[in-house]
Amino acid sequence: MTKTLMSQASSQNYRFMLQDVAVEITGMNKWYGEFHVLRDINLKVRRGERIVICGPSGSGKSTMIRCINRLEEHQSGKIVVDGIELTSDLKKIDEVRREVGMVFQHFNLFPHLTILQNCMLAPVWVRKVPEKQARELAMHFLEKVKIPDQAQKYPGQLSGGQQQRVAIARSLCMKPKIMLFDEPTSALDPEMIKEVLDTMIALAEDGMTMLCVTHEMGFAQAVADRVIFMDQGQIVEQNEPKAFFSAPASERTRKFLGQIL
Ligand code: ADP
Ligand code: MG
Repeated sequence: MTKTLMSQASSQNYRFMLQDVAVEITGMNKWYGEFHVLRDINLKVRRGERIVICGPSGSGKSTMIRCINRLEEHQSGKIVVDGIELTSDLKKIDEVRREVGMVFQHFNLFPHLTILQNCMLAPVWVRKVPEKQARELAMHFLEKVKIPDQAQKYPGQLSGGQQQRVAIARSLCMKPKIMLFDEPTSALDPEMIKEVLDTMIALAEDGMTMLCVTHEMGFAQAVADRVIFMDQGQIVEQNEPKAFFSAPASERTRKFLGQIL
C-alpha cells in the first residue's frame, strides 16, 4: 500500500518535472567531420528561464543552439525539446521547429515580401492559420515590437534595428514556446542595439523561455537567470549573473570577461 502510494507520488513528481523542462541536453557530442565541435554538453533549461550564452568566437555557441532546432545534427547524447526527443524522425523535427523560434545575426527576412507578408508567411503555410487571422496576429506582434507603421514596407526600406525587430515579430507569430537568439545585435550599429535589446527584455518579462547567444553583458545582467560560458566546445562554467560576473570560477572565464567588459 505504502509502496503504491510512494510510486504514485514519485511518478507525479516525475510528470511535473517533465512539464517544467523546456530543453534537456544530456551527454551531447557533435563533430564536423573530424573536428569535435561540441564536447559532452549537459544543459537543462526550465520553462520561462532566460539563459545567456557567451564565449570566444569559434567556441561552439551557434552550433549548440542550432542543434536545439535541428539546424545542426548531433552525433551522440540526447536532446529533448518540449518533451520531444530529436532524432532523425522528420515529423518530430517539424514538430519541434514549430515550437522553437530563432533569430539570427543577419535578420534573414524575405526581401521581396513586405514586412506584413514576412510575418504572415509561416502562420499561413505551416500552421494553416486563416489569412485574416494571420494578418491580425502579425499586426499584434508588429505593435509589440513597436513598428506597426512599417507593415507595408519592404525589408530594404527599414533600418537594421527595425529589420531585427521584424524578425523577432515574425518568429513570435508562430507562437513559439522557446526562442533562440544568435547574436541578434552584433550586426547592428550601436544606436540600434538598444531598441532590439528593449524588445528582447519585454519578451523576457512576458515569461518567454529564451536562450540568447550574446556579448551584451548589460542585457545578461538585466534579464538572465543564468549565464553560460563556453570555450572550445564545452560548457566551462554557468552561474546566475551576479556571481558569474563578480566571481567567475575559471581562469578562462576571467580572461574572456577581461577582454569584453
Ligand atoms: P561560435 O558561434 O561560438 O563562434 P560556431 O558554433 O559557429 O562558434 O563554430 C564552432 C567551430 O565549428 C568553429 O571552429 C567553426 O569554424 C566550426 N564550424 C562551424 N560551422 C561549421 C561547419 N558547417 N563545418 C565545419 N566547421 C564548422
Ligand atoms: Mg556564432
